[in-house]
Amino acid sequence: MKNSNDIRPPVNGKAGRIVIAGPCSAESPRQMMETARVLAASGQVDFFRAGVWKPRTSPGSFQGVGSRALKWLQEVKQETGLAICTEVGSVQHAVESLDHGLDMVWIGARTVSNPFVVQEIADVLKGSGIHVMVKNPMAPDLDLWAGSIQRLRQSGTEKVWAIHRGFFYWARSVFRNHPWWHLPMELKARMPDLPVICDPSHIAGDRRLVPMLVQRAMEMPFDGLMIEVHPDPDKALSDASQQLTPAAFLQMMSHNFRKQNPGKEKQNRVLDELRAEIDGIDQLLVWALSKRMKLAGEIAGIKRRHRMALHQPGRWEQVIQKVTSLGQEGGLRSDFITKLFEDIHHESLSVQQRQKQQRIISGNRPTFVR
Ligand code: PEP
Ligand code: MN
Repeated sequence: MKNSNDIRPPVNGKAGRIVIAGPCSAESPRQMMETARVLAASGQVDFFRAGVWKPRTSPGSFQGVGSRALKWLQEVKQETGLAICTEVGSVQHAVESLDHGLDMVWIGARTVSNPFVVQEIADVLKGSGIHVMVKNPMAPDLDLWAGSIQRLRQSGTEKVWAIHRGFFYWARSVFRNHPWWHLPMELKARMPDLPVICDPSHIAGDRRLVPMLVQRAMEMPFDGLMIEVHPDPDKALSDASQQLTPAAFLQMMSHNFRKQNPGKEKQNRVLDELRAEIDGIDQLLVWALSKRMKLAGEIAGIKRRHRMALHQPGRWEQVIQKVTSLGQEGGLRSDFITKLFEDIHHESLSVQQRQKQQRIISGNRPTFVR
């Protein structure tokens, strides 16, 4: 690592990388200590994490136990010697974390895009010597992520790291937060002295995907990992599906991960990202087709009420002209577009036809497909 920021050299973690592990949320002193003892005994973990205040989408879900868990973190540190960290989302959180001697705090994905809050937190933490990790914002916006890191550094926080936790992606992905690996790599290129940690748990959203993502992270120049571990993940009060048991964590860490292979890694990353985009576009195409057929169904109802023929040749000619000219602008062959739209038109007509038959059979008003 280029900049170890001298917190705990030498690093215990896998292949010389920092390892941060612990439950998503602090739930009870017992849950924390039980987990921390196993993690510390493994000799592979540098920091124990636990969310004290949880930024949740819905006000009805578990919001974290709050300040009293800071004492539980202190007890973990006293008994196991692990450095301790939690998420801060306000000035109050930052003040209390300093008061309780936390070694590190992180600014979460929901807070990082608010420059006012980041500045207020930076003003509290400056000069304290505490480590601050900045998670990427939900949106895949590298400037916003880099901007928060610069803001902290310029405000006098020297020990700043970044955490890659994946990004919101409008298309359905197997991941809870899509990795877009090129963004943390680009951040590293822009700020070569910035340690960047990978958080496979929040990228995955599903514990079965975590080892595969750890493998991917180990092939890239990440400086460490942050992994959620809970003694009974299915009963966890937050992020139940993505946390590993301590035993599964240890088993995963004992695996001999392939090391960095820059050429292959870049090729895999580019392929992954292009495929993710294609998957997104396919999803959009299927959605658009289904929406088109539903509209055709509604039009069938109007045609019926006005006693119009289902097939309207004039309208069809307009459609074909418009799409072939659009296709040409987009570099698509006109016979490809014509064939594709003939199939679509054929299906639209059969949707309308089926609706008409159904109406005749039931003798009722048609139920429009919505
Ligand atoms: C967390 O680390 O538990 C967390 C809430 O992360 P994120 O901000 O990445 O969603
Ligand atoms: Mn979590």
